[in-house]
Amino acid sequence: MSQNSVNIEEANICKCGDYCLLKTSRTLLNPSRQFFGCKASKENGACGYFRWIDSSLENADE
Ligand SMILES: [Zn+2]
Repeated sequence: MSQNSVNIEEANICKCGDYCLLKTSRTLLNPSRQFFGCKASKENGACGYFRWIDSSLENADE
């Protein structure tokens, strides 16, 4: 790779090495909450990466 300083957190690149898709959560815990997620499907060996998109960090409860 020519890029040796890619910030995964900033660029929203998942462990597959590809850009993530902007998705909207539909779970009961986080309804309508947007996040970046791996664009591969589980059937295709998705890494399962996701990252919430919160402009405010008022509730960082990881
Ligand atoms: Zn992935």
